[in-house]
Amino acid sequence: MAAIVSEILRKGELSKEDIIYLLGADGDDLRELFREAARIKQQYVGNSVYYRGLIEFSNICAKNCYYCGIRKGNREVKRYNITDDEIVAAAQFALDNNYGSIALQAGELESDSFTSRITGLLKRIKLISEGKLGITISLGEQTMEVYKEWFDAGAHRYLLRIESSDRELYKKIHPQDDLHSFDRRTECLRDLQKAGYQTGTGVMIGLPFQTLSNLAEDILFMRDMDIDMVGMGPYIEHENTPLIHYRDQLLPIAERFDMSLKMIAVLRIVMKDINIAAATALQAIDPMGREKAIRIGANIIMPNITPGMYRDSYSLYENKPCTDEAADDCRGCLEARLSMADADIGYGEWGDSKHWHARQQEDRDTAK
Ligand code: SAH
Ligand code: SF4
Repeated sequence: MAAIVSEILRKGELSKEDIIYLLGADGDDLRELFREAARIKQQYVGNSVYYRGLIEFSNICAKNCYYCGIRKGNREVKRYNITDDEIVAAAQFALDNNYGSIALQAGELESDSFTSRITGLLKRIKLISEGKLGITISLGEQTMEVYKEWFDAGAHRYLLRIESSDRELYKKIHPQDDLHSFDRRTECLRDLQKAGYQTGTGVMIGLPFQTLSNLAEDILFMRDMDIDMVGMGPYIEHENTPLIHYRDQLLPIAERFDMSLKMIAVLRIVMKDINIAAATALQAIDPMGREKAIRIGANIIMPNITPGMYRDSYSLYENKPCTDEAADDCRGCLEARLSMADADIGYGEWGDSKHWHARQQEDRDTAK
């Protein structure tokens, strides 16, 4: 067995079958997979972990994804919308603590007032930080004009998870209407690339109906789309969502966790120089989950700096960690845990995707 894994790991390009094999690895095979992913991470992106202070500023969402706790149809959740001043204060906290970057995330809304609110906020954050804070946004599907407007206002990275690259599985976990179209989601990813963003995507791991073949295709999708950054993590069920009916068919939570680590390791081997985030959902399962991901391939962490009183309500899934802690409580413990994972923290740095830089260079070279 181990011989097969070694042989696969020596290959320049992995096939779908190779990836499926690696995702099924255990024992010595798994240790070898993780060792190789850690080695590649060290060689291509180094030992630093970069922070994106995460501000989940609103749980108001126009969509109804079947897996998500803040979907529009969930009447049990208390809706909130943090004021602009509070968001800017959270950005100031990131700046004062030398986080380097922030990430603004919320439910999905498409409207002129939402667009101009975000534009104004981005400009304010650029202003208070004198351009020093890097800004990632994750605000769902929007038109090209909106993506461009926000890019011009100062956002330079965008996260839009494809959730599953398999059209059929995508259909099973979303309502069948124009608001939840697989084609629009992939088109948005292309628009983001064209608009100039470092573009991130990702999937949920351990969804009901999901197969190993789907997961291998997810990795190939990210490669073929030439994605710069990935945030992916375990699917965690939420009681007030339609997918809860399939609770009995899920992989045990520990296996979803292990599979997420394998996905990160394989992705690091396939896309050596991208940024990979250690998803917060890993920490919901294992208190050291994100640090384990950092050890075997991830290089980005998104510490939650949402003002404490709102955190309970951004309940995408059950048992979300740190919802009762103030932002600054997290800092010391995170630093200690990362040092246990042998990682340095790239304080004050943007930690842009090396893959994105390489793509820019290639574009310049071909233009010559
Ligand atoms: N509305 C935006 C951003 C907020 S949702 C968007 O959908 O793009 C951010 C991510 O949370 C989603 O992309 C999804 O992958 C993840 N998420 C939602 N429900 C989840 C669940 N039950 N388990 C794990 N991740 C979940
Ligand atoms: Fe809204 Fe995003 Fe949740 Fe879908 S995943 S319901 S778009 S917050």
